[in-house]
Amino acid sequence: MVPEEDRMRKAPKARALEGGCACGAHRYALTATPLVVHACHCRDCQRLTGSAFVINIWIEPEFVKTSAPEPASYQLRGGSGAPHDVFFCPTCGTYLWSRYGRGTKSLFVRAGTLDDPAAVTPDVHIYTRTKLPWVVLPPDARAFKSYYKMDKVWSPESKERLRRLVAR
Ligand SMILES: [Zn+2]
Ligand SMILES: [Zn+2]
Repeated sequence: MVPEEDRMRKAPKARALEGGCACGAHRYALTATPLVVHACHCRDCQRLTGSAFVINIWIEPEFVKTSAPEPASYQLRGGSGAPHDVFFCPTCGTYLWSRYGRGTKSLFVRAGTLDDPAAVTPDVHIYTRTKLPWVVLPPDARAFKSYYKMDKVWSPESKERLRRLVAR
């Protein structure tokens, strides 16, 4: 008999992660595992979510399957001054994902819009220098005051997937 905890750990991560906006007009399914999952505590993410931090699933765009028309988008300036496009449902205003930087192909899907947000857990917490003081991270969490070096966090498989995406 497999203990409950082991079964949870072995649950297929590749199972389609589905989600959508609050009004249901926009639905999506992630058809691959995330490259990495960020919890970002920066001020931009706090403002955009109206909350303490965002949970971003970093993934290639071809693995974000949408049934509805493309969500609407609005271009902001990220902390570095590079463009940051946010994609949202024009009917209910739910932010579904972001794309950072000029020519970047990756999407950052907001895990809070998943039907089961517990399906992912952050691999790393970033920009904790602006983390709200009452947010207490697990003692074993990987956390960085600003950004981090990819080698410290990413699996070799994810690094290879990103290399292929960038090379396209
Ligand atoms: Zn909506
Ligand atoms: Zn952020």
